[in-house]
Amino acid sequence: MMQWLRQLFGRTEEAPFLLLHARCGRCGAVVQTRINLYNDLSVEYDDREEPAGYWIRKELMDDRCFRLMTAELRFDRQRRLISQEVTGGQIITAEEYEAARQQARKQTR
Ligand SMILES: [Zn+2]
Repeated sequence: MMQWLRQLFGRTEEAPFLLLHARCGRCGAVVQTRINLYNDLSVEYDDREEPAGYWIRKELMDDRCFRLMTAELRFDRQRRLISQEVTGGQIITAEEYEAARQQARKQTR
């Protein structure tokens, strides 16, 4: 139960991660990807070469039209998400992702 709750909120004590959900701008298919906030992020430096925060660029591909989307996320020094955008698609919530998956399952039946 605790494990499930932690996954629901996208972070765990041991390996904090973020679940990113996006919808393809061409075919509307949804994808989910997992970003490890400690292993996957790159440090971003400010003008004085001091660490200013973190960022990641991640490529996503849906399983319908296979077009590549590029997600770019920025974090502050505490690894809190401050901005996110997807080229070739749009960011959606976990709820929208689940709803779209359920819809897709119904259609294939
Ligand atoms: Zn697509």
